[in-house]
Amino acid sequence: DEDRALLSGAGAGRDGDEAAEARPVVAVVGRPNVGKSTLVNRILGRREAVVEDVPGVTRDRVAYDAEWTGRDFTLVDTGGWEVDATGIHLRVAEQAEVAVELADAVLFVVDATVGATDTDEAVVKLLRKSGKPVVLIANKVDDNRTEADAAMLWSLGLGQPYPVSAMHGRGTGDALDAVLAVLPDESNVNGAYPRGGPRRIALVGRPNVGKSSLLNKLAGEERVVVDNVAGTTRDPVDEMIELGGKVWRFVDTAGIRRRVHQTRGADFYSSLRTQTAIEKAEVAVVLIDAEESIAEQDIRVVQQIVDAGRALVVAYNKWDLLDEERRYYLEREIERELVQITWAPRVNISAMTGRHTDRLVPALETALASWDYRVPTGRLNAFLGEVASSHPHPVRSGKQPRILFATQASTRPPRFVVFASGFIEAGYRRFLERRLREEFGFEGTPIELSVRVRE
Ligand code: GDP
Ligand code: GDP
Repeated sequence: DEDRALLSGAGAGRDGDEAAEARPVVAVVGRPNVGKSTLVNRILGRREAVVEDVPGVTRDRVAYDAEWTGRDFTLVDTGGWEVDATGIHLRVAEQAEVAVELADAVLFVVDATVGATDTDEAVVKLLRKSGKPVVLIANKVDDNRTEADAAMLWSLGLGQPYPVSAMHGRGTGDALDAVLAVLPDESNVNGAYPRGGPRRIALVGRPNVGKSSLLNKLAGEERVVVDNVAGTTRDPVDEMIELGGKVWRFVDTAGIRRRVHQTRGADFYSSLRTQTAIEKAEVAVVLIDAEESIAEQDIRVVQQIVDAGRALVVAYNKWDLLDEERRYYLEREIERELVQITWAPRVNISAMTGRHTDRLVPALETALASWDYRVPTGRLNAFLGEVASSHPHPVRSGKQPRILFATQASTRPPRFVVFASGFIEAGYRRFLERRLREEFGFEGTPIELSVRVRE
């Protein structure tokens, strides 16, 4: 039925905002230092994008919600694009290419004070090949005297260069008008940038379960670009990793990576740090070392996630080391120790060999779709009405509390409020929760149910 279809639809719209992913996407590309970040900041009208003064400091592409003359679009900032790039620069160049691929239109920024370089020419070829509409920005035209520099860029063959000073705001309005003129109303690259930026994942688990191994595996060696979140110290670093055609934000990965260089044994990825990462994330992946007995610490981390109300995926790691006997005992341990989260999607992976790591994304998408899901009020009440009449609350001291009505007060996670004519016992509350899950799924998300008594 309709509700289920929505629930299982991976990448379904976020709460009450199904149209968000249809917002058209504008990518800002160009060589390093031409002023892309400055332009992005100018367009956003805030200082969110990080402007790095240090040459060679890289950043991944980051998506922002932008608006111009009443139209909403997603603005994607990229690192510098060097066509003959190697190493970390290659990664950034790849990101720029991906950004173009995932865009509906491109703002191509050239430094007018420098003029068209060989790199710019090469980028033009790639842009042509992409077939995307391009608006050429001749940046750093701070005053009338330098307008002539902009005119030189007709030579690139991309049509009219728009003279702009990203720094002072000069000309940006005309350039944006030009972009909006070529931008479709609905994106043709749906879902690449869910509203609110990439979805945030925390990778958690006790020491040595394989967090850093998995992070490396997912990112691919050398393929990670560190993103320093604006206005914070260098320490908690998020990494943007592209998986399954989408960018995901792995939060607080500094602690995970640093462990690689530390001596074994000590718990550097402390409980407090885990808690912070969970709070910042929308979904958490708990890694459990499948080769070892499920420990108190594993259960504690799982509980932290449930208490924080975050979506949850459980990954049993080091599957390559398991023999048949251990597999048998593992299943028994899961049944015994982790019954409270039978609703969490489970993947059996090996961070070392890469086994089944491709199953993480579908699991994450399922969990997040559940986390975002809202049951229509009519549907919820019709369902609870049926449940309450077929299984009414037990009579206590001659009284029988009735369910009056219910509403889903919020999403992320789904929270329900049930209004009743009297006190509802914990056992019956759990029964209702169970029936809600049976009916609506909610795979991968904790749900909450509270009861209010109406006199
Ligand atoms: P990105 O690497 O392309 O993102 O470039 P940035 O936005 O970091 O800018 C590189 C440098 O150019 C910074 O020092 C900026 O202050 C400077 N810059 C950016 N836009 C302008 C502009 O319109 N005029 C002038 N004069 N400098 C600019
Ligand atoms: P972290 O402390 O959670 O970041 O764990 P690490 O990623 O540092 O891994 C701890 C140890 O387990 C390292 O020696 C890894 O090589 C090893 N390891 C991690 N994942 C796997 C796996 O899937 N299979 C095997 N056999 N070893 C693994």
